[in-house]
Amino acid sequence: MGLLLAANVAPLIGEDKRAELAHFSHNFYSSTSSLRYMLYADEEGNIFYGIPFSESEVQNSLTIRRKIHLPDEYAQHSDTPMVRQHITPDGEVTDVFVPLVYEGQYKGVLAIGTNPNPTVVASSHLTRDVTIAVFVSIWVMVILGAVFNALTITKPIKELLVGVKNIASGNFKQRVDLPLGGELGELIASFNDMAERLERYEEQNIEELTAEKAKLETLMTTIADGAVLLDTDLQVVLVNPTARRLFGWEGRTVETTNVLCLLPTAIQTEITRPLYRTARGELREGAEFRIALKEPADRTIRILLNTVFDLYRETVKGVAITIQDITREAELNEAKSQFISNVSHELRTPLFNIKSFIETLYEYGEDLSYAERCEFLETANRETDRLTRLVNDVLDLSRLESCKLYNFEAVDLAQPIEQTLRTHQLNARDKGIELSQEIASDLPPVLGHYDLLLQVFTNLVGNALKFTESGGKIVIRAYGLQVNSAVDSDNGITQLNSEAGEEPQKVRVEISDTGIGIAPEDQKSIFDRFFRVENRVHTLEGTGLGLSIVRNIIEKHNSRVHLVSEVSVGTTFWFDLTVYRDTKPMFEETFEGLLATDNSVESSTGSVVAGVSL
Ligand code: ADP
Repeated sequence: MGLLLAANVAPLIGEDKRAELAHFSHNFYSSTSSLRYMLYADEEGNIFYGIPFSESEVQNSLTIRRKIHLPDEYAQHSDTPMVRQHITPDGEVTDVFVPLVYEGQYKGVLAIGTNPNPTVVASSHLTRDVTIAVFVSIWVMVILGAVFNALTITKPIKELLVGVKNIASGNFKQRVDLPLGGELGELIASFNDMAERLERYEEQNIEELTAEKAKLETLMTTIADGAVLLDTDLQVVLVNPTARRLFGWEGRTVETTNVLCLLPTAIQTEITRPLYRTARGELREGAEFRIALKEPADRTIRILLNTVFDLYRETVKGVAITIQDITREAELNEAKSQFISNVSHELRTPLFNIKSFIETLYEYGEDLSYAERCEFLETANRETDRLTRLVNDVLDLSRLESCKLYNFEAVDLAQPIEQTLRTHQLNARDKGIELSQEIASDLPPVLGHYDLLLQVFTNLVGNALKFTESGGKIVIRAYGLQVNSAVDSDNGITQLNSEAGEEPQKVRVEISDTGIGIAPEDQKSIFDRFFRVENRVHTLEGTGLGLSIVRNIIEKHNSRVHLVSEVSVGTTFWFDLTVYRDTKPMFEETFEGLLATDNSVESSTGSVVAGVSL
């Protein structure tokens, strides 16, 4: 519209036909409802005509010379009008600036203001509203989508992630509690199912493992051998009470400490290198050591080293050390060797004597007188007796030290004592020794073995006769005792208290002599096999086994033999026997080794087990 108007008015302006211009413009203005104003300005921008401004205003304006203020971007020689919009209190106005060119000359500018096209405005408003609505909807949808996403996907996935992490770290109690359907719901259900199975499996495994652990621990604590388990760095993982006792580790925390820092020096020196080699798996067949320990006690131990492999015997998992206390075994071996050497020696002496006398008789018999031959034969005979005695004593002793079971019954002690006196009375009379008995009149029968007790009396009275000078006295006493178990004397046996009228529980037997006595330093050793004081002091016949046999027999009767002795005053051997009651126990002996060597007079009665009521 601006271009059309400009094309029409340009000639009128060029020819300066202002009245026609005004007329034409007025008509145009009147016929165009959307036109708000029309302004004509010359080349300098001076407004020379304008509608709806009045003519007088124009004149005034001409007088005042009002100027149009053209926008910066207005171009005089452009074919395209410049359009802009601005807001007035009466609404939005579209300003159109059209250059007026006549015959190639710039004649000024036509500025018209129009109302915006309502249709266009309406359409543009609609477009704007729709755009905003779409924009807002998109955002709302995006936000709703994000919220929905967060609620339905992200949250469950996050929870699942936490759950998986917990399961991976061993917390099988983990569950995901989200009421979701679809694939995610299925995934959560499967996850919970898996966690439940794992939990059940773990519970079952834990039960089995706990049971196995308990079994192993029981085994570890009850085995007689010491056991120490090390890891590959030789740090203690497990140790049982026996090993603690053997190494003196009681009450100490040794776990996670290097075993070489804990072991006694004697063991360290022996096993350090092999231990390292075992931990590297180089000693597959294991290693064995026999070590004498001084600390914490005098012991001989056997140490076995073994590599602990994994299930497939490929990877080394640690080292197992087994410690066996072989002190007793070593002592028994030592005693056995000692015994064999003693027996051989003891047998060799009489055999040698017999052989020499018989050889002499055989070779030089004709040169010897009758009396000499008799003397030689008598010596050979005596040596044969000695040999027989020795062999019998050795046999007796080995029988006693074997596992043989003896039937114990009521024994009236008066009988074996009588028999012993009868046997030795003649000998005693010959030696001028008074041999007597003092047996309590109401002596109850004892629980024992007649033959064994007879041997005890024979050995003790025989010794007393051997070591008592002429004019001496030997007495066998036997009397009942009331046991007061409240007072512990005699190493847990009894404090004795004879009271008339009370039933005796024990019978004490004493064999006293007024002989040479036994020096205190010998009193412990006389019960050892082949120990004879006279080997050092005097020479009287004997095997050195008599008292060992006595000790063994009394121990079989669940008692112990004691002695009181003073040199040149005399000796008393005494022991207690249990009174026979109606029940008849049988003493059963545990095998303690054929050649046990407990040299102490006060030795333990551990080899005899309590009686069994029949
Ligand atoms: P033997 O058969 O040689 O007598 P025993 O074992 O019976 O051996 O005795 C060991 C030693 O104890 C004897 O050699 C002796 O020195 C000492 N002995 C035993 N009984 C008496 C006693 N009544 N008086 C003094 N010494 C004794």
